Amino acid sequence: MEKQELLYEGKAKKVYATQDPKFLIVAYKDDTTAFNGLKKGTIQGKGVINNRMSNLLMSRLEQQGIPTHLVEELNDRETLVKKVSIVPLEVIVRNIAAGSFSKRYGVEEGVVFDAPTLEFSYKNDALGDPLLNDDHAVALGLASREELALIQTYALAVNKVLGRIWAECGVILVDFKVEFGRLGDGAIVLADEISPDTCRLWDAKTHEKLDKDRFRRDLGGVEAAYVQVMERLANSL
Ligand code: ADP
Ligand code: UDP
Repeated sequence: MEKQELLYEGKAKKVYATQDPKFLIVAYKDDTTAFNGLKKGTIQGKGVINNRMSNLLMSRLEQQGIPTHLVEELNDRETLVKKVSIVPLEVIVRNIAAGSFSKRYGVEEGVVFDAPTLEFSYKNDALGDPLLNDDHAVALGLASREELALIQTYALAVNKVLGRIWAECGVILVDFKVEFGRLGDGAIVLADEISPDTCRLWDAKTHEKLDKDRFRRDLGGVEAAYVQVMERLANSL
């Protein structure tokens, strides 16, 4: 399948139509942003790594019974996916306190939760992606109760599978964000990407950050961290 018109250019990816309205091609860029677009930059080679990593992880999730949008990796930066109507929720699962959780609730980064915690943000850049609960999501017409329940079940299953995969690489899955969408028949599938842009990944021994926090917090070694987690994942397969 070939790229046709550019439908959307986001902060990290471009989305193209194909000859078939059921499919899209996503093209991963090296561009990166943080703090709702306030901080902008480039992470050299990131697009190639995120494309490959997201596809490897999504195919493992498929093997474990979690439906995803993945169809086929086309080249270094481009992947054919099923077109979905995105449920405008950022579905965040946390195993360890970090980032906005630590800030909002005054909890030191690194506190390990007894069980995974799940939260939703309203995916709306103009509003700054506000935190919201199930009732809010239903009131806003973003998803039905049944869809929310399924999304929660899938998100926790994703956490289990990814947690195991990363543990085998000597990496702790601290937290992550995923997005879900509806296929033409209404079926909910995992969409968007899973990468160091969307997950917090810490070295299991040293707790060194191996994800986008290196960019957000100006820690340096951003490219090297992305390369390192990708190599660890590839070597564990
Ligand atoms: P953003 O929109 O936050 O800047 P990206 O640069 O990653 O993010 O752009 C990719 C866009 O494509 C996102 O808005 C995402 O929700 C959307 N998307 C991801 N997967 C699919 C899919 N399978 N079908 C339709 N849209 C998708
Ligand atoms: N995240 C993301 N996109 C967002 C917000 C968060 O991919 O727009 C990811 C982020 O990389 C982290 C997790 O979701 O792995 C939790 O992020 P948090 O709420 O702590 O927000 P942040 O600290 O990034 O503001």
